[in-house]
Amino acid sequence: MSIEKTVKKTPQQQFRGGPGGGPGGRPGGPGGRPGGPGGRGGRQGDRPRRPRREPVVEVWEPKTILGKKVASGEITTMEEIYEKGLRIQEAGIIKKLLPDLKTEVIDVGLIQKMTPNGQSTRFKALVAAGNQNGWLGIGLGKSKQMRIAIEKANNAAFLNVSPIKLGCGSWECRCDQKHSVPFTVKGKGGSVTIEILPGPRGLGLVAGGKIRNLLKLAGVKDAWTHTNGSTATMNSTSKALLECLRQTFSQG
Ligand SMILES: [Zn+2]
Repeated sequence: MSIEKTVKKTPQQQFRGGPGGGPGGRPGGPGGRPGGPGGRGGRQGDRPRRPRREPVVEVWEPKTILGKKVASGEITTMEEIYEKGLRIQEAGIIKKLLPDLKTEVIDVGLIQKMTPNGQSTRFKALVAAGNQNGWLGIGLGKSKQMRIAIEKANNAAFLNVSPIKLGCGSWECRCDQKHSVPFTVKGKGGSVTIEILPGPRGLGLVAGGKIRNLLKLAGVKDAWTHTNGSTATMNSTSKALLECLRQTFSQG
């Protein structure tokens, strides 16, 4: 073992020595780089290499009656589920019916709290899922591990996916395409209020970065927005935005 270690370490030392003897600054750069893998090789001698984890391909096994109906092809659209007022309890249903759904991590934060044993730290993650064509959901996940918090939030976002009525409510445009909101909508979450006004085609999204991302995921392409309150609080902001988008069904 020790012999192997020394054998593996020598090339690294040679490389480290290399740049010093090198004529200029430029050869020093490439000389330094092979040293890196050499160092890792040395450490490998001490510890057996961990087998690379292969990506797990998830096979969805429906557990609920609704899930089985979706899997067997009896129900083929999300609209059908919404018209019947059925509750979706499996993320797999949505993944099958809306295959072009994309997820995006909007916010990751720490939750710190004092317990009798000291401080406990957990992660929370906010994830949005949307297909850029009238469906959007936002979910929150908390865990001691960031990865699991994001996974939980992902799942919650999938389950929260709900429809948005897109349209063109702009008097400057008056087309029949679904590129904006059908009329002005307003939503509130915590201290944050958001107003979305329909805009003409080609305007783009007049909104702050994170709100713009959410509107884009929902499928709104052109709109003006007015916000009030501390929009840096993504919890409230996403709640206000979801209320706005839900209101697109309130009239017409
Ligand atoms: Zn239009």
